[in-house]
Amino acid sequence: MCYAIPGKVVGIRGRNVILEYFSETRNAVNEFFELSEGDYVYAQGGLIVEQIDRIEAERLLSSWKNKFMELKRIDSELSKPPAALEELLDRSLNKEDLIQMLKSNDDRIFAMANALRSARKQNSCCVHGIIEFSNYCINDCKYCGIRKSNRKLVRCRMSKTQLFRNVEYAIKKLGFKAIVLQSGEDEHYTDEMFSEIVEEIAKRFNALIFISCGTRTESFYKKAYDAGARGVLLRFETSNEDLYNSMHPAGSKGSLKERLHMIKYAKKLGYICATGFMVGLPGQTIEDIANDIIMTRNLDADMYSIGPFIPHAETPLRNSKQQNADLWYRTIATARIAHPDANILVTTALETIDKDGLRKGMMCGANSFMINATPDEFAGNYDIYPRDVNLIKSINSKIEVIKSIGRAPTDISI
Ligand code: SAM
Repeated sequence: MCYAIPGKVVGIRGRNVILEYFSETRNAVNEFFELSEGDYVYAQGGLIVEQIDRIEAERLLSSWKNKFMELKRIDSELSKPPAALEELLDRSLNKEDLIQMLKSNDDRIFAMANALRSARKQNSCCVHGIIEFSNYCINDCKYCGIRKSNRKLVRCRMSKTQLFRNVEYAIKKLGFKAIVLQSGEDEHYTDEMFSEIVEEIAKRFNALIFISCGTRTESFYKKAYDAGARGVLLRFETSNEDLYNSMHPAGSKGSLKERLHMIKYAKKLGYICATGFMVGLPGQTIEDIANDIIMTRNLDADMYSIGPFIPHAETPLRNSKQQNADLWYRTIATARIAHPDANILVTTALETIDKDGLRKGMMCGANSFMINATPDEFAGNYDIYPRDVNLIKSINSKIEVIKSIGRAPTDISI
């Protein structure tokens, strides 16, 4: 079991459903089930992904009740606001305010962001498992270890059967209820082939299916949506067009405009959109980061995906300076204070630069996270940036971290 609590249906208006978790309510969308009040479901990212038998749900809930109350107690103890910063919340913040916050040495912004997270999003936490199914990529992004010019990388892609097996393992054995299918921009998977894969996964398993395959085409996203995918993870990487162009050599697919277009198109189709940027790219300024936070909001991101840049030895940016994680924490805290209702993720890259990154990230404004759920034999080759792999150990230790800071697997609502 990964980390999930069943919610009780207490209100239904068309597709919009109100769920109750021990007297706290959340909004969710129901697309796939015939529900009545009193039914029990699992929801992820605001989407109902599974209906469960009432007796089983009541048994699970009674085993969760004391644990849930204890998690609430821990969270409220850890999220008291520092009084002096309260005036920050009285007005909406402009770009200058964000720049000030990003530059400041005032560590109270972390506690402030955490208090806001607790007030607006409670102690809810969604856990998404990423399955990296191909490291082939037609692009040559200067920062990325799986860029096509990295000839040292052993390229591999999962066959349909391998992918199903790995998704099944992640859902049935590891207990994930939200799966992110991630790859390089790999046209081996045609629109039809990929949508068939998604359709089969949607038919066989109860989970929120996210896709993260790069810019691709409108038809790719449309077909995958029709097949049952409901989430897209696609960062714009940086809002600074000159910086973007310098990171993506001419000939690479997906200009900033095209990437932004695809994020907006995915939103229009109805996908839950996770988007954002990298922090610490060489040449990126604090003003760029403020603009990036604003762009994430303007794109109406359902989840903010903001990760630290990590230099990779087999890329042109190998000698770039690794920013310490503090800038990332400050970026997350600033994003939370600027946009209190956002869902903000701790991304997998963070722990590469700070072993305590998940806990610290969740304590400075984030409310959900992604874990690698790629089997070790594949993960070793999916070499975006340097990292250790050991799946089960890593998942268990992350769940323990989350419990230790009082976060419960109730749905985050979007
Ligand atoms: N091909 C898809 C795409 O382009 O969105 C998904 C795979 S891509 C490797 C996933 C993300 O990895 C990118 O959006 C980028 O932000 C991040 N990434 C790539 N290289 C990185 C690096 N050196 N350090 C940190 N993050 C990196």
